[in-house]
Amino acid sequence: MNRHLRSILLLALALSLLPVAMTSAQKKKRKPRFTEYPVKPYCTECLKKNLIPGPEKKIRIMEFEGQAVLDHIRSRHVIYIETDDFKLVSTIPGYKINQNTTSRLLLELPMLKKRFPGIKGKMPRLNRHHVAHLIALHLHRVKLEFWELFKTRATSYSGIMNRDNKHEIYVFSNQRDYDRFTDRFTGVKASGGQEIILHADNAVGFVRPPPPRAGLNTWNNTIIHMWAHLLLECQIRNGYNMPSWLDAGFAHWWERREHGNYNTYCYSESREVGIFGSGKWRQRVRRLITSGKALSFPDFFDIKDMSSLNNRHHGLAFSILDFIINTRKKELRKFVRALGATDHVDQYQVFQKSFNRSVPAFDEEWRAWVRKTYPKR
Ligand SMILES: [Zn+2]
Ligand SMILES: [Zn+2]
Repeated sequence: MNRHLRSILLLALALSLLPVAMTSAQKKKRKPRFTEYPVKPYCTECLKKNLIPGPEKKIRIMEFEGQAVLDHIRSRHVIYIETDDFKLVSTIPGYKINQNTTSRLLLELPMLKKRFPGIKGKMPRLNRHHVAHLIALHLHRVKLEFWELFKTRATSYSGIMNRDNKHEIYVFSNQRDYDRFTDRFTGVKASGGQEIILHADNAVGFVRPPPPRAGLNTWNNTIIHMWAHLLLECQIRNGYNMPSWLDAGFAHWWERREHGNYNTYCYSESREVGIFGSGKWRQRVRRLITSGKALSFPDFFDIKDMSSLNNRHHGLAFSILDFIINTRKKELRKFVRALGATDHVDQYQVFQKSFNRSVPAFDEEWRAWVRKTYPKR
């Protein structure tokens, strides 16, 4: 083969490979992440409207025959959606999307419109059926984001994220339904409308009363807060070996990303929101740190019980997770894996090993990061 011919052949070969190389680069860039959504989840309302084929499914929730539960919360307005991972029972009413609706929820609008072609425009009015599907879609997205953080997928776990059964999520639009439901099915007398995280033997879920001044954003922040608690607990293999700062901070971090102007706390957490009652958590954390009023991270390990955290602690715990998720994802994965060990785990020691530095050294780095990256006002 002469040299000229060979170079032409090489050029032809290179040109033929080029489109392949380009498409795989493009594919890498595109990262199709939100494709795992079960295209047709089971839904009692979709079934009523003939949007999915029958027959009616036998439902088992709360360790009861599902129909009894659904009847109890007045089945005429309950929506039941079941996906591959969770069961959602919702009595949340319809809402109109407006310019204040969090952009995170709007991410689900295209897929919602695909399912319900009747939904039109940028700010559609959603009925309660749409809202339930919107929330199911969003729960699903957050779960995928969580999996991305921990570099896991469905097959990384045994069962449904280390549980035998699907997660169960109950959200109520009025206090009366919630009270009746909790009295009858959870065995927990929930005074003052507290929410409950359930740990049945083989399923785990949460029950929520209407948040104060319920709007769609408040609902969303509330639900995602609880969802983050739940997912993290499954991730540590339901070992309940969870530092209070990690549990609280993790849920606040996911919630604050949904919408910074809403703050929901949950059962057993400090409800005195104090200086964190409104938005601007980062500015307030920065001020606590520069003024020397922030609890030190080593001291945080001594607060074992979440109910002992005060509102300042909640803000600081959020910031510690903010620091970790922004700069130390790999170490977080190691730490959480170590917490899930079946033998006794010393949280303080395991932290130092996973993060490869002492707790006081980490404390210094976190404070320096806050000073450098958080806005002053
Ligand atoms: Zn439906
Ligand atoms: Zn919480």
